[in-house]
Amino acid sequence: MEELSHFIDGRRVSGESGRFSDVFNPATGEVQARLPLASVDEVDAAVRGAAKAQAGWAAANPQRRGRVLMEFVRLLQRDMDSLAEALSREHGKTLPDAKGDIQRGLEVVEFCIGAPHLLKGEYTSSAGTGIDMYSLRQPVGVAAGITPFNFPAMIPMWKFAPALACGNAFILKPSERDPSVPLMLAELLLEAGLPEGVLQVVNGDKIAVDAILQHPDIGAAGFVGSTPIAEYVFAQGAAHGKRVQCFGGAKNHMIVMPDADLDQAADALVGSGYGAAGERCMAVSVAVPVGEKTADALIERLVPRVESLKVGPYTAGEDVDYGPLVTSAAKERVLGLVESGLRQGAELCVDGRNLRIQGYENGFFVGPHLFDHVKSDMDIYKTEIFGPVLSTVRADSYEQAIKLAMDHEYGNGVAIFTRDGDTARDFAERVNVGMIGVNVPIPVPLAYHTFGGWKKSVFGDLNQHGPDAFRFYTRTKTVTSRWPSGIKEGAILNFQSVD
Ligand code: NAD
Repeated sequence: MEELSHFIDGRRVSGESGRFSDVFNPATGEVQARLPLASVDEVDAAVRGAAKAQAGWAAANPQRRGRVLMEFVRLLQRDMDSLAEALSREHGKTLPDAKGDIQRGLEVVEFCIGAPHLLKGEYTSSAGTGIDMYSLRQPVGVAAGITPFNFPAMIPMWKFAPALACGNAFILKPSERDPSVPLMLAELLLEAGLPEGVLQVVNGDKIAVDAILQHPDIGAAGFVGSTPIAEYVFAQGAAHGKRVQCFGGAKNHMIVMPDADLDQAADALVGSGYGAAGERCMAVSVAVPVGEKTADALIERLVPRVESLKVGPYTAGEDVDYGPLVTSAAKERVLGLVESGLRQGAELCVDGRNLRIQGYENGFFVGPHLFDHVKSDMDIYKTEIFGPVLSTVRADSYEQAIKLAMDHEYGNGVAIFTRDGDTARDFAERVNVGMIGVNVPIPVPLAYHTFGGWKKSVFGDLNQHGPDAFRFYTRTKTVTSRWPSGIKEGAILNFQSVD
C-alpha cells in the first residue's frame, strides 16, 4: 500500500513518529494509503527549516515572489487533470467539482501575483517640521495553516498564497483525510521556483496542530474547519501569543419570497444543497419559503428534482451529480441526524437512506434527503449536518424568515430569492451573516473580495483572501524620522503633538 509523506525542505520525507492514519477511497470504502502523523519534534524540524529559508524569501523583491506564483498558476493549469483525479480519489467529489476546487484556489493565487500593490505601505511627508513618517508592511515570519478535508486544494491555496506573497514561510497542516493534493501543490511550487523550505507540509492530527499552536517561532496561524475545533485553535493560538484567524461551521439559510421565480429557486436549492454531497461550508442546508402557498409550490418543485439526483463514484463521469461522503463515520453521523429528524417529527419527503450502488456497496454514499415542516428546536435544524440533507422550515412572514437566519448561532452564508429590490436591500442591510446572496445561492466572494462569516462561523477579526489576507500575514511598522537640519530645539521633556 502507498505510504504518503511530509514535504520538508524541498522533498518528500517519510514520517518518523511510527503513527499513521488511513486514507480511504470513499467511493469503494478501501484504504488506499497510509499517512504518517507528525510528532512534536517533526513539527519543530519543519518550523526550523522554514525559519531558515524565510529571510532569503522575504529579501526577494515582491515582484519576483509574484513571478513564482505566476509560474505556479501555469503549472496548476498544466496539471489540472491529474490534480483533480487525485482530489476526487481521496475526497469523493465529482471531477468537475474537483476542478472547481482547484480553480477557486488558483484564482486567489492569481490575485496574489499583484501583491506588490498591497504591500506598498504609507508615507506622510512633513508630518511635522522636518519630520517624515512612513509605515511598512513586513512579513510575520513563519505562518501556519490548518485546513479541512472538504476543499483540499482551494483552502490550502487561500492560506499559503497570500502568506508567501507577503514574504513569509509557511507550514501547511492539511486534513489527514485527503492529503495528496496538498503534497502535489508543494511540489509544483518548488518547480515554479519557490526556494526549498519556504513551504513545508506537515501531515498529522491534534498532536501536530498543538505543536504548531505552541511553537514560539510561528507568528500567525490560520484555521478552517468545524466550529468546536476553530474555537479551540483560536484560544490556544492566542494563549501562545499568535495572531490567529479561524473559520468554522455553517448552517446557511435560503429565504424564498412569494414573488420569487420558484423554478429558479428550486434549481438553486438543489445545486447548493446537494452539490459535493452537501460537504461545503457554503452549502444551503435550510430552505425558508415564506407563506404556505410558496412552501407547497416549492416542495412540489423540489421533490422530483431531488429524487432524480444521480449519486455515484467520480469515475462514472458526467452521469453523476454528487459522490460519497468522505468517511464511513461521516455517513453514520448524517444518517443518525436523519433518524433524529424523523423522531422529532419532521416530514421526510425524499428518503435517501437505502441507496445502494452496484459495485460500490462499501462506498460511503448517502442518497439525497429532503425534509419539510422542520422546526427550529429540532437537531436537524440546530446542527450542521454536512451531508445531502435539505431541511425546509416554513415561515409565515418575511420578518419571521429573517429572524430565523439571525437567531441561528452560525452566520457564514445566507441567500434570499425575490424579485423585490426593497426586500433584498433590507435583507442585506439587516441580516447578521457574513456573505449574502441575492438570487445567488452560494455567494462565495471572488479572490479580490474577502471571505468570512459572522457569529460562530468565525473566530478572529480579519477575513480570508482579498486585501484582509495581506493585513493578516503582515505586521505594520511605523517610522518617524527627522534629519539634523530639522532639529532646532534642545531636549524636550513633554509629550509632543505635531502641529
Ligand atoms: P475538522 O474541524 O474536523 O478538521 C479541520 C482541521 O483540524 C484538520 O486539519 C484536522 O486535522 C484538525 N483537527 C481535527 N480535530 C482536531 C483537534 N481535536 N485538535 C486540533 N486539530 C484538530 O473539520 P473537517 O471535518 O475537516 O471540515 C469540515 C468543517 O469545516 C465543516 O464544519 C465546515 O463547515 C468547515 N468549513 C468551514 C469553512 C469556512 O470558511 N468557514 C470552509 C470549509 C469548511
